[in-house]
Amino acid sequence: MSNRKPATIAVRTGIESDTQHHAVVPPIYLSTNYGFPAFGEVPTYDYTRSGNPNRGLLETALYELESGKGAVVTNCGTSALNLWVSAFLGPEDTIIAPHDCYGGTYRLFNTRAQKGDFKVNFVDQSDEQAFDAALEQKPKLILLETPSNPLVRVVDIAAVCEKAKKVGALVAVDNTFLTPVYQKPLELGADFVIHSTTKYINGHSDVIGGVVITKTEEHAEELAWWGNCIGATGTPFDSYMTLRGIRTLGARMRVHEESSQQILDFLKPQPLVKVIYHPSLPEHPGHEIAKKQQSGFGSMLSFEFAGSFEQLKYFVGELELFSLAESLGGVESLICHPASMTHRAMGEEALAEAGVSQQLLRLSVGLEDAQDLIDDLAQAFEKASAFKG
Ligand SMILES: *Cc1c(COP(=O)(O)O)cnc(C)c1O
Repeated sequence: MSNRKPATIAVRTGIESDTQHHAVVPPIYLSTNYGFPAFGEVPTYDYTRSGNPNRGLLETALYELESGKGAVVTNCGTSALNLWVSAFLGPEDTIIAPHDCYGGTYRLFNTRAQKGDFKVNFVDQSDEQAFDAALEQKPKLILLETPSNPLVRVVDIAAVCEKAKKVGALVAVDNTFLTPVYQKPLELGADFVIHSTTKYINGHSDVIGGVVITKTEEHAEELAWWGNCIGATGTPFDSYMTLRGIRTLGARMRVHEESSQQILDFLKPQPLVKVIYHPSLPEHPGHEIAKKQQSGFGSMLSFEFAGSFEQLKYFVGELELFSLAESLGGVESLICHPASMTHRAMGEEALAEAGVSQQLLRLSVGLEDAQDLIDDLAQAFEKASAFKG
């Protein structure tokens, strides 16, 4: 049912599929192995590393949500990225990745490239000249991450895919920040979508998981083979939990976004807020592209704190409804200081190059009441401005 909307796919996938007891919610199958019906007759599922009913349902939900043809659910987002490069890259092949990509992705590609597994070229993908120069190396794969972390920079997916086709490169988009509710990369020309399902897809900060979704059945088969070969696949219990989280994806994404818009309006006139980064703002460099390729602006935002560094630390400490923690996309609101937390491994020079300053704070706006969140920010700003540290 390809014309169904994401919220419907998210709720209905697998409902009433149990033929034994007619359980409305699909049951969980923890068994590691499945009997062969007869000698030489291979069942749909034989061993859980290669396949399992719960993982199968989650894969169906995810590829239908992204309008793909297949998917492989992995044990984390990082292993989804690792599976993808393992399947398609050899020692002579090159991958182009964003210079400001997720820190773990940077570490993974960099480390494997140093071992000679493949070549990697980290490029500022918003710099057209740099990107075109990188394409001349005839890369086999291109990874996009849009919007990026933590400055929510936006890259034109359709434009990159068109250029990629001309040099025969395959494109994957890390769609973790927007989910298929707000962005459908396969419809814009991408060949793969990758998620850390740990974030919005599961949405409750209680499962680590990932997925690679493919535009073609052939790629899905190839990735499934590799997923089994290298042992990257997700567990039945995690799959069950993640599908449970997906049930509310449409409703969650809507409230995340509504609340983040209210918080943006509150932040704009704050004297302790210097620059705000969010694609919904007309002055954001990616605003027009975001309007074109996204159906919502998403709810990850960051801002430069205008006070002293001591005041910033005090502000963060006074917040009651924003937990100081990494990760994002859960029901609970989080605040993160990228320079000392998620991006601390980058080193000062790389941080400066990526535009991540010591004054930058990132918010993952959760599903608490928006006015309560604003009141909490207001009281912490007030205390911080009176603080003489
Ligand atoms: C968290 C994250 C990852 C890595 O996923 P894990 O589930 O933590 O392994 C990759 N890309 C993005 C954009 C992320 O936010």
